[in-house]
Amino acid sequence: MLKLQNVSKQFDRKVVLDDINVEIKTGEIVSLLGPSGSGKTTLLNIILGLTQLDHGRIIFNDMDLSNVSMKNRGFNIVFQDYALFPHLSAYENIIYGLRNKKGLVSETELQEYIDFLELKPHLAKKIGELSGGQKQRVALARTLVMKPKILLLDEPLSALDGVIKESIKQRIQSIAREYKLTTIIVTHDPEEALTLSDKILIINQGNISQFGTPQEIINQPNNDFVKEFILKQL
Ligand code: ATP
Repeated sequence: MLKLQNVSKQFDRKVVLDDINVEIKTGEIVSLLGPSGSGKTTLLNIILGLTQLDHGRIIFNDMDLSNVSMKNRGFNIVFQDYALFPHLSAYENIIYGLRNKKGLVSETELQEYIDFLELKPHLAKKIGELSGGQKQRVALARTLVMKPKILLLDEPLSALDGVIKESIKQRIQSIAREYKLTTIIVTHDPEEALTLSDKILIINQGNISQFGTPQEIINQPNNDFVKEFILKQL
């Protein structure tokens, strides 16, 4: 269970997150959804430990991680642009984070992750030789081999289209189910959030507009903002 309690953040005296309270169950896929500038990325970075909060607490499995460094928190992120090393092969990228972590993943487990993401035929290729969907799978594999306690994804589908988008969406869902891995996704696209997530946290101007399942949000929108933001996509 991940609990965000009274999470608040200002930048240059501007309130970006205003007293966010939410509980995310282990293994759930939760989308942080909202318009540009609403505070989604700031919230993701606060969970990751990249950005310090001003007030509030981050509690994970009853441990207060608010003052624990990003490195020691054990949550891992796939950035929007994947941040892969172009001069390395797909395989070298996947194992990059393991160079100082001997014993974290056995050779058998490593092969399982590679098989799960169907990356075997692409391991020797340089990043520039991979398609968008293949790059995303390499980025996911590189993150999964670190055995994250929580998987954070920043706009994982925004650079993909059509069939590839659908296949990565299913892949993210099977990762969360297979590894019982809490997965938190930033997206500005209501359609993506509705079809991908177990729950959606709708943020508007640093406040929670609604937190609920896609069904709850469609059938019982809390306010006009949710209605307009979601319904215009349906
Ligand atoms: P987008 O979808 O455009 O990425 P977002 O919902 O992820 O937007 P954030 O990136 O969290 O929104 O930004 C929320 C607000 O905080 C914006 O007004 C942004 O300009 C401001 N902001 C974010 N990071 C910083 C920073 N490091 N310094 C100052 N202001 C910042």
